[in-house]
Amino acid sequence: MGKVTGFLEIDRADRRYAQASDRIRHYREFVLPLSEEATRNQAARCMNCGIPYCHTGCPVNNQIPDWNDLTYRGEWEEAARNLLSTNNFPEVTGRICPAPCEASCTLNIQDTPVTIKTIECAIIDRAFAEGWVKPEPSSHKTGKKVAIVGSGPAGLACAQQLARAGHEVHLYEKHAKAGGLLRYGIPDFKLEKRHVDRRIEQMTVEGVVFHYNANVGRNVSAQSLVDAYDAIAVAGGAEASRDLPVPGRDLGGVHFAMDFLPQQNRRVSNEPIGTNEPILASGKHVVVIGGGDTGSDCIGTSIRQGALSVTQLEIMPMPPKAEDKLLTWPNWPLKLRTSSSHEEGAERDFAVTTTTFEGENVVTGLRCMRVDDRMKPVAGSDFTLRADLVLLAMGFVSPLKEGLLAELGVALDNRGNVAADTVRYASSRPKVYACGDMRRGQSLVVWAIREGRQCAAAIDEALMGSTVLPR
Ligand SMILES: Cc1cc2nc3c(=O)[nH]c(=O)nc-3n(C[C@H](O)[C@H](O)[C@H](O)COP(=O)(O)OP(=O)(O)OC[C@H]3O[C@@H](n4cnc5c(N)ncnc54)[C@H](O)[C@@H]3O)c2cc1C
Ligand code: SF4
Repeated sequence: MGKVTGFLEIDRADRRYAQASDRIRHYREFVLPLSEEATRNQAARCMNCGIPYCHTGCPVNNQIPDWNDLTYRGEWEEAARNLLSTNNFPEVTGRICPAPCEASCTLNIQDTPVTIKTIECAIIDRAFAEGWVKPEPSSHKTGKKVAIVGSGPAGLACAQQLARAGHEVHLYEKHAKAGGLLRYGIPDFKLEKRHVDRRIEQMTVEGVVFHYNANVGRNVSAQSLVDAYDAIAVAGGAEASRDLPVPGRDLGGVHFAMDFLPQQNRRVSNEPIGTNEPILASGKHVVVIGGGDTGSDCIGTSIRQGALSVTQLEIMPMPPKAEDKLLTWPNWPLKLRTSSSHEEGAERDFAVTTTTFEGENVVTGLRCMRVDDRMKPVAGSDFTLRADLVLLAMGFVSPLKEGLLAELGVALDNRGNVAADTVRYASSRPKVYACGDMRRGQSLVVWAIREGRQCAAAIDEALMGSTVLPR
């Protein structure tokens, strides 16, 4: 522990955002880093708790008090080495993780957790700037071949760990570029794609072979992978969006969020948008249905495209503004969260259900009703909202069944995800493993990284009889 009295002397201070009026004019990141001195001061606030709840609050079990101390002392390179020993992509989590570690920090009992995410981001950004992050090719080869399907954070983490353990790793991705939702879901203003490109370059030098436009179960047969490889990890994400099958659903202008967001990411990267039907919010009244991360990203993207208005509807009641710490800490609390996109100018309404999309051929409005505590519509509470574009962002129900999973014939759990435990990560089919959202259902990047790492360790152990890869 660096500064014993740090938490008493230094107030919590965190990164700020560029002004909304400026940042909505572009798609670049807009979080303003703290100075080196301020970052070290924030790290000095860590109390090195006897029971560091931050450790278990973090899904990849980052050794947070250790690198807080190293940061406070200015030992940045060692801090980076420590951070990278538990997290393959801290430059991603340092930007877009909701930071369950901060919710479980002891100082969060009084609403002033250590700014763990900001310190994490500062450590890894510095490590890249100083050239400390280098490819780590394995010094030996095992002679085993592993195929990974899906290049989201789960597939990438799994591939990197297995390549570093000396296996020949081939990563199959149906899109033209790697990254999964890091590339095609999460907007550039939250995560610029240069962070993903840099990792792909590193992994290529480490020996991972990327196969693009390879849709396994469609234009590449899954059986051919089973025949050619010693193991396969399926990490295809949870891509089946939850629908809203009410009258008018088939009107023009009603789209899934994941038809809208990837188009904008492709525009920013100068990639073809891959459809003749551009979906744009410019000059439109936009209604986003769904209150999570995806809905929030639709808001920020619509505002940047020049929407006339953006309204977000959520069927759940408005959560409390602050949690009852005695009931929730150190767990992740349910409370009202206001994202940077909300601050850019969206209206939010809660406890609302949509009963009809109105319009001739194209949507012009929504008929809605208020719902009670049991989510039952309240009689007489009908109202109408104007809308020229409706984006459905109500989450994802499961992985897609057609193609890959149908051909492999792996057993599914009762939620429709690939059935596999978190020790062996083995599916019902020999040689086939599963990790990330395809196994656990819609989740977070940090959980995908954890599962990718643990799945790699399980595969390594199954192939070699033992493993030195961390779980
Ligand atoms: C819009 C949006 C915003 C989000 N924002 C955040 C956030 O801010 N913070 C956070 O922590 N989490 C966020 N999430 C959740 C997070 O992105 C996911 O939990 C995470 O990406 C899951 O990782 P994954 O590797 O399991 O799957 P994915 O990232 O979904 O990657 C799966 C990959 O598999 C490929 N694939 C699928 N089937 C095949 C096949 N048959 N053949 C070849 N390739 C295939 C897909 O093309 C994709 O590249 C967000 C999700 C969305 C949709
Ligand atoms: S819980 Fe907070 S104060 Fe305690 S060790 Fe973790 S980061 Fe430091």
